[in-house]
Amino acid sequence: MEAQESGEHKYVYDFAEGNKELKDLLGGKGANLAEMTNLGLPVPPGFTITTEACKAYLTTGREPDGLAGQIEAHLESLEREMGRRLGEPDDPLLVSVRSGAKFSMPGMMETVLNVGLNDRSVIGLSAQAGGNDRFAWDSYRRLIQMFGKTVCEVPGEEFEHALDEIKSAKGTHNDLDLDADDLRGLVDAYKKIFAKHTGREFPQEPREQLDLAIRAVFDSWNAERAVLYRRQERIPADLGTAVNVVAMVFGNLGPDSGTGVAFTRDPGSGAQGIYGDYLANAQGEDVVAGIRNTVPLQELEQLDKTSYDQLLGIMARLEEHYKDLCDIEFTIERGKLWMLQTRVGKRTAAAAFVIAGQLVDEGLIDLDEALHRVNGAQLAQLMFPRFQLDHEFEPVAKGIGASPGAASGKVVFTSARAVELAAEGEAVILVRRETNPDDLNGMIAAQGILTSRGGKTSHAAVVARGMGKTCVSGADELEVNVPAKKFTVGGHVVNEGDVVSIDGTTGKVYLGEVPVMPSEVVQYFEGELDPETIDDALVRAVHRIMTHADAARRLRVRTNADTGADAARARRFGAEGIGLCRTEHMFLGDRRELVERLILASGEREREDALAALLPLQRADFIEIFREMDGLPVTVRLIDPPLHEFLPPLEQLAVNVAVAQERGEDVAKEEALLAAVRRMHEENPMLGLRGVRLGLVIPGLFAMQVRAIAEAAVAVVRDGGTACPEIMVPLVGAVQELETVRAEAERIIAEVVGDSGVEVLIGTMIEVPRAALTAGQIAEAAEFFSFGTNDLTQMGWGFSRDDVEGAFFWRYLELGIFGISPFESIDTDGVGRLIRIAAEEGRAARPGLKLGVCGEHGGDPDSVHFFHSVGLDYVSCSPFRVPVARLEAGRAAITTAGSDSR
Ligand code: ADP
Ligand code: MG
Ligand code: MG
Repeated sequence: MEAQESGEHKYVYDFAEGNKELKDLLGGKGANLAEMTNLGLPVPPGFTITTEACKAYLTTGREPDGLAGQIEAHLESLEREMGRRLGEPDDPLLVSVRSGAKFSMPGMMETVLNVGLNDRSVIGLSAQAGGNDRFAWDSYRRLIQMFGKTVCEVPGEEFEHALDEIKSAKGTHNDLDLDADDLRGLVDAYKKIFAKHTGREFPQEPREQLDLAIRAVFDSWNAERAVLYRRQERIPADLGTAVNVVAMVFGNLGPDSGTGVAFTRDPGSGAQGIYGDYLANAQGEDVVAGIRNTVPLQELEQLDKTSYDQLLGIMARLEEHYKDLCDIEFTIERGKLWMLQTRVGKRTAAAAFVIAGQLVDEGLIDLDEALHRVNGAQLAQLMFPRFQLDHEFEPVAKGIGASPGAASGKVVFTSARAVELAAEGEAVILVRRETNPDDLNGMIAAQGILTSRGGKTSHAAVVARGMGKTCVSGADELEVNVPAKKFTVGGHVVNEGDVVSIDGTTGKVYLGEVPVMPSEVVQYFEGELDPETIDDALVRAVHRIMTHADAARRLRVRTNADTGADAARARRFGAEGIGLCRTEHMFLGDRRELVERLILASGEREREDALAALLPLQRADFIEIFREMDGLPVTVRLIDPPLHEFLPPLEQLAVNVAVAQERGEDVAKEEALLAAVRRMHEENPMLGLRGVRLGLVIPGLFAMQVRAIAEAAVAVVRDGGTACPEIMVPLVGAVQELETVRAEAERIIAEVVGDSGVEVLIGTMIEVPRAALTAGQIAEAAEFFSFGTNDLTQMGWGFSRDDVEGAFFWRYLELGIFGISPFESIDTDGVGRLIRIAAEEGRAARPGLKLGVCGEHGGDPDSVHFFHSVGLDYVSCSPFRVPVARLEAGRAAITTAGSDSR
């Protein structure tokens, strides 16, 4: 238009000029209004001021050059189209001013309706509506209320209060009982409130109303609530918001008018049908504000069949066009339907899968697209056990679902009490106003954590997620009284010891114990439900999409498992091998005694005896695992933790010795243990004598493990099975360490394996930064690398995981130093760079070097995409994460560069 002809930047787009792909520039609402306009749907005319105009305004503090003129030009063309001028006394054009960013965001400025009304045009509006005074004054009072609240920050309650007063003077609760005179009186009251709070009269100049409202939308981008929300949802802070100016249509003109909202399918379950609410004789937000009872959308058929049929037709059209579930807002003005908004609707995890499956059936999307539409976080949600809810259980409060899962237990208010009761075998729920680092032990002991304050990045939420513990945060209906050991909610008093149930997915809190049931998706993965025969849309959809993901993915998925039972379950969940079998648990329980003997051995002979006793035990463990994973690779990590972890704690030993001495008992062994523990004490055990260092310092230890692995493999093969062991050396930082271990291991393997046909690979973890940086050298001695991303993150950042998550991560998240804990999702810039270097240099030195990852990141959706992009061969994760990794590996493979994977 004019703007472009004169070569100045274009800041304003008519609805006819935009389309749904322009969300960055026009915001979601504007882009979709344009799309509907171009589809020929009945959208009131209007225009969109771009996010660029907003950004320019926010950086310079004033509207950019040319914006005012462009608004003027577009307003004029809108006025021509409508045959009315903004706020003209006799026959006014009214508009709404609506914010709309790329992502919908609570906390942004709400919409101002009826802009253009003033003391004179209110009379004209009434005439326009055939002398409907009530309607005109109702519209005017709404303008003052919305404008006052959202543009001039007048406290909303004051308006509410004045409205309530008039209603109670009339003896009614229903706003429809107020007549024109009442509403005129209300306008006067509202104007006084406005003047009192702003120190000026309500602006009568329509264009000034418009400009102030636009500016307020811009400013609301930086409102506290919006900033907080963006940080939580990791929405970039510099997107800005667009502003939509839309000709008003009126749902409050009488019983033949109204307003409503609808979904094209059930956003809860994905089921097809008609889901919506309608409210006759109402405007805008009335329908969701709960001021009057809405009716189900189906009833519109009786009220206005023509509009109803037209609406269903449009909804079908929108679904076909967007190829997805849409939600819509509409208004009917005296029997004429108007579309006011649409967008691809939010949905639950279950609905996401079901709808994707349905759309494939309907031929609207293909399986690649279906796979793109769901994600691992949703799948993980569907795998949590859930509460079996029937009518008996009504939530008493709803907070933020901060860490998913379902937990029931006795309420406790202090960390100490949580630890006490848990030690007695009780399930407990730790309830606090908010948690702090002192609550850590209580959080570990508890089944779940419930707080009345704080959001998704609060201490409680961050720590609970890190521990995989159910957490509901910010349940602000709870009055928590820690000294009195009780909380109150909605008239109930809950004392210490009473049972509550919390749902970390929905944020709901229940009194009493709600029974828990396994999710049907897990039953399916367990092989208990047959997707071919079961009449369950969710299971069928999950099956279909998983099958496609498996076909699409390049990354293999293995599991971390130390026992035959874990290995078996992971295999049912689709694991294609074991990426990390920790051997340390094989030194626990009644085997501790042998470890003690090993540590206390005074000579070669005693040490060899202890190792010889351990050998058959380890061999039996490996045989069990190799059998379960028959034919699939099993990576066994040689012992990693410092040996003193297998001894009793220092204090306990010291007490034992003292007590025994007092009694005059023989304490030789305790004293020896105590001396050993003192001798082995390390200031910083994570960086001390562990991993490969142990193997190099304690003669025979690794040799025994290697022998057990090789002998187990041979035993399995002799029984007709197939064993594919891979021996993994932990904590290597220099190739010389690995070479030393390797030389001995190769000798033993050759001796044990003989001509059995068993092949044993030898490789290393890459978890010390130096290993990553000298990967080219290390690859000379390794047939595979497995990235230990937990340690690599600890050592890469210099974070002691056990300490930092509870101590200060919440603060780092609050400050935005990182958007998510680097232990949850791989830090691609730093730790990821180490991985990239090691992968490239390792493969350069040894083509065909097998690369995998066995940290917890292996089951994290974003991290899986990163590992795919670096070209790893597999990820390995806990059994329950295996399906998530399979799905995300499939998504990574089909996600073309640059497309949005969220
Ligand atoms: P939100 O983003 O909070 O949904 P909207 O901008 O969609 O805010 O507006 C809030 C309400 O006002 C919606 O119900 C919408 O239908 C109504 N509304 C907005 N613009 C108009 C208009 N031009 N005519 C009639 N109603 C409108
Ligand atoms: Mg809306
Ligand atoms: Mg490690």
